[in-house]
Parts: sequence; C-alpha cells; structure tokens
Amino acid sequence: MNELTIIFTILFLIPAIIVILSLIVASAKKSVRNQLYEFVKDNSQALKNLRELNKSFSFYDVFLPSETHTYDNEIFYDSISCRDYLIYQLQFKQKEVFEQCRRVSYNRKQYPIYKQKISEIDCFGSFGTIPDKWNKVTLESIEQEIFDHEIKRPTVDYTISVALYCSQINGRIITSKRETFEYDTIKRLINRINDRSGYFYNDKDIWDAICRVERGKVSNKMRFSIYERDGYRCRKCGRSGRYHDLEIDHIKPIAKGGKSVYSNLQTLCKRCNQEKGDTYYGN
Ligand SMILES: [Zn+2]
Repeated sequence: MNELTIIFTILFLIPAIIVILSLIVASAKKSVRNQLYEFVKDNSQALKNLRELNKSFSFYDVFLPSETHTYDNEIFYDSISCRDYLIYQLQFKQKEVFEQCRRVSYNRKQYPIYKQKISEIDCFGSFGTIPDKWNKVTLESIEQEIFDHEIKRPTVDYTISVALYCSQINGRIITSKRETFEYDTIKRLINRINDRSGYFYNDKDIWDAICRVERGKVSNKMRFSIYERDGYRCRKCGRSGRYHDLEIDHIKPIAKGGKSVYSNLQTLCKRCNQEKGDTYYGN
C-alpha cells in the first residue's frame, strides 16, 4: 500500500463504514420496535375490547368558531369590545351555533357512559403467546401507549373565541384583544338578541353593541373612497371641505336597520350631519 491509499482509507473509508454500520444498527432497532408495536396491535385483548367499544359509540365532530376582525381606526377599536363583536355576529349565526351546541350536548351525555365502559376494561397484558425473545413489561407499556392513543376524546364544551386587532392604515398590527365565551353566556346573549320587535331590539345594551359594531364597519379605506366618490363635497349643502370637516353618514340610519355599505353611506359636512343627527338616533 502506498501512502496515498492509507490516507484515503483513513479519511474516507473508515467514516463511511461507521456511518453505514450505525444506519444498519438503527434500522434494526427500529424494525424490532415496529415488530413489537405490530404484535401488540394484533394481539392485545384490551385493544380489541377498546375497538369494539369505539365502534358502538359515535360522537359528533364539533366546529368551534373563532371570530376575528381588524380595525384600521383606533377609535372604533377602542369603542368595540370582543363581547360587542360576538353579539353582532350572533345575529346571523345563531342557527349554526345551536346546531353545534346540540352536538356538544349529545357528546356530553354519551361521554361519561363511554368513559365508564373504558374503565371496565381490565384485561391488560393479555397477548396470548409471547415470543421468548420479548419482554412482557415492554409489551405492556406499548399496549398502554396505544390504548391511550385510541381512546376517543369528543368535544364536550362549546366556546367561541373572539380576537380583535387594531392596525395602522398600512396594515401593521398595533395591538389586539381576545376573549373566549362559554356556551351559557352565548345562549343568554342569543335570547336577548331575539327579544325584538321589527328593527328594534328591546334590550338597549344589545342594541348599542350592534350599533357600535355596525358603525365600526366603515374602515378608513372605505371612508376615503366615499369622500372621493362624492367629490369631497357635502351631499346635502354641496359645501366642500377638508377631511376634518367632512363626515360619513348612514343614509338609512343604523337605528332603522341601515348597514355600513357603500350604497348606504354618503359624505356630509359636520353641520349637516349634526342637524341630521338630531332627527335620528344611532348615526
Ligand atoms: Zn353640509
């Protein structure tokens, strides 16, 4: 052997052999582990019982909604709470909410019965004949691991989480707030929302919350595109003004069911808006 061959052997061949050997050992270990898992899955009596039980119990999937909104206007962000936002959304989503709650309450009734049946399974460690090379304690710990994994865990609590963000006009988030509401609270709110005659909500607290959110739907972007559409002039008296003299008005007032959409919004000067504001509530 010449010197070059020796150097080559030391530098390349030996590390390569080490790597290959360790890969072989690792894969052998892995394959023993896989064999153990396969054996437990196929032969554990406790797992067989659990699977039978799982077949006889079905739980509903539950969709837990989360509501988010980003305000580009700090004044709106500050005036609107997570609860206000939830109240607003519940006007449109109560059917869906009730359906999900029905599912949760079904799960809630079935789950304790299921858990009771699970606790009655007592044949752990029974695998039939175990090959000599394997340790029973190891098999039992694998059995426990798979068993825990296969237990069903249905949703038994219905919640809605609300997150509100405040951003600069360029979209960068400055601050945020979030809150999670439990089913009992949600149900109480829905009852109060449904307590209405025509457009008018009998519950002032609910109504104020809805108005705040409706008003808050006018983003800064929307505001400026309405000024632009109206030529930066008051649509009532025709006066043109700088931004701070102009305001956005709901043509059909929020208090009468008017929405914050382009067709229902117009530019008014401060004075005309104040005059109009005296006639209508909620604008
Ligand atoms: Zn005017």
